[in-house]
Amino acid sequence: ATDLNALAESYLRLCYHGLRAKDKSFNVNFELNLDSNLPEVEIIPQDIGRVLMNLINNAFYACAERSQSTASEPMEGYRPLVTISTKNLGDRVQIAVKDNGSGIPDTIKGKIFQPFFTTKPTGKGTGLGLSLSYDIVKAHGGELKVESKEGIASEFRILLMI
Ligand code: ADP
Ligand code: MG
Repeated sequence: ATDLNALAESYLRLCYHGLRAKDKSFNVNFELNLDSNLPEVEIIPQDIGRVLMNLINNAFYACAERSQSTASEPMEGYRPLVTISTKNLGDRVQIAVKDNGSGIPDTIKGKIFQPFFTTKPTGKGTGLGLSLSYDIVKAHGGELKVESKEGIASEFRILLMI
C-alpha cells in the first residue's frame, strides 16, 4: 500500500528543484495541503508518480506562462502558486494539483486529453502527458478530472479507490 501524501510531496519537490536547476529565473511558489487522515491505497507508485509529475510540470509551466504574458505590463500582486492537496472522500481519495496560471480556454478543453495535443512550442511539449496520465489513472480504476478558467486557475483531480 502507498502513502499518497509522501508520494505527492516527494514528486512536488522533485519537479520544483528540477525546474529551478534548469532555469535560475524560475520563480513559482508551491504549497502542500495534505490530509493527515488519508488511508493508504493499492497503486503502482511509479505510475501515479508519473501522473503527478505530468500534472505538476504542466501547472508550473502554466504559471510561468502567465508571468511572462504579463511581463510587459506587470500584473500587480500576481504570485504564481502551485498547490497540491490530498483529501479523504470516504470511499475514495483525491489528489489535486492546482495552479493560478494561464488557465485552459473553453475552446481547447475537449482536446487536452487527446494524444499529441499541445499548445506548447516545438520542443517544449509532446502533448502526451495528459493522455498518458488519463490512461494510467483509468488503469488504476480511478478518474482524472479537470476544472479550469482561462486566465484564472486550473485544477486537475486524481480520484482513486481506497
Ligand atoms: P504538453 O504538456 O506536452 O503540452 P499535456 O498532455 O501535458 O501536453 O497537456 C496538453 C495541453 O493541455 C497543454 O499543451 C496545455 O495547452 C493544456 N494544459 C495542460 N495542463 C494545463 C494547465 N495546468 N494550465 C493550462 N493549460 C494546461
Ligand atoms: Mg505536459
